[in-house]
Amino acid sequence: MTTPGPTVALIVAAGRGTRAAAAGQGPKQYAAIGRSTVLAQAIEPFLLHGRIDAVCTVIHADDHDLYGAATASLRRDGKLLLPVTGGATRQQSVLAGLDALSVLTPARVLIHDAARPFLTAAVIGRVLAALDRAPAAIAALPLTDTLKQAGAGDTVTATIPREGLWRAQTPQGFRFDTILTAHRRAASAGQDFTDDAAVAEWSAQGVQLVLGDAANIKLTTAEDMAMAVAAHAPIGMPDIRVGQGFDVHRFTTGDHVWLCGVCVPHSHGVEAHSDGDVALHALTDALLGAIADGDIGVHFKNTDPRWRGASSDQFLADAVARVTARGGMISNADVTVLCEAPKISAHRDAMRARMAAILGIPVDRVGLKATTTEQLGFAGRREGLAAMAIATVLFPAPPK
Ligand code: MG
Repeated sequence: MTTPGPTVALIVAAGRGTRAAAAGQGPKQYAAIGRSTVLAQAIEPFLLHGRIDAVCTVIHADDHDLYGAATASLRRDGKLLLPVTGGATRQQSVLAGLDALSVLTPARVLIHDAARPFLTAAVIGRVLAALDRAPAAIAALPLTDTLKQAGAGDTVTATIPREGLWRAQTPQGFRFDTILTAHRRAASAGQDFTDDAAVAEWSAQGVQLVLGDAANIKLTTAEDMAMAVAAHAPIGMPDIRVGQGFDVHRFTTGDHVWLCGVCVPHSHGVEAHSDGDVALHALTDALLGAIADGDIGVHFKNTDPRWRGASSDQFLADAVARVTARGGMISNADVTVLCEAPKISAHRDAMRARMAAILGIPVDRVGLKATTTEQLGFAGRREGLAAMAIATVLFPAPPK
């Protein structure tokens, strides 16, 4: 039988969480896992649940700014109440929260640990359904591991029968007035319990066990946090990086230029330490830019005799190797050559094929365009030629 009156949720987030926090980090409930914080994900299932009328969080006095930032993205329709400042122990914090909620004269309260961010609506529903029939109901799981009792030197002294043993989770649901009264009595009696069901048991309330969820873990240690962060890293969202490059070489006497790895007959050559292929130089810089690894001049100094007259495909191949060494995959590249002459249209297919071969990607992922500059500027005056390039590099998952 459902008692008339609102059903509220109380999220306990006042702990310091020092066991899970790495040095210099704040309390674990404010750490990010996946799309938001642990706390926001612990609160959200209650905000979204149709049978929960209000949600209140108990926080540490120092954490008001952290709380504000953590909950800024949560849906607001009056359901999320202002936070309440907790006490020195978990039990004192719960009592402070219950006292604050009493102005709403709730019929039921579900109390939930902020360090359990993987709660589902199904578990909330099971606790509420049991609470319709029993004075108290908690999510729990039957023990599956065999229990050993250890003596000196961690030597097993007994195997404990696990029949009838359950691990308590949260949420834990109660008739509001009876749990508030029980908490006040426990505080007066100096009793300290590790969960709210124990407070109810101490005051002789029947507590119904309902099936929790193996995923509804309490993030306790730094290892728990690392596992949760890894498991909830954004999936299906590759780490996409884009780099750009630009290069210019001056014309000089000669009868050909190298462009996009192809030798093109021309009335001039270009001044360069290497073969002066502006397109491959720009593309090399685009790849280096995508992985933030300097530029072509850093890796191939133009004073180094090894690169005198060098074929520029080796510069590009080196950049490709640097991308691959980081676990990256080149997705596409696009090059624009700026010059009045030579014309590249007759060479376009050969140039795209050559660049695709060096990049190790299909030719339909390599774009090549050419433009004049309407006889303006150095390219327009045929003093030299330039190239721009852009490249996209994918990393399969965000860097850990
Ligand atoms: Mg160059």
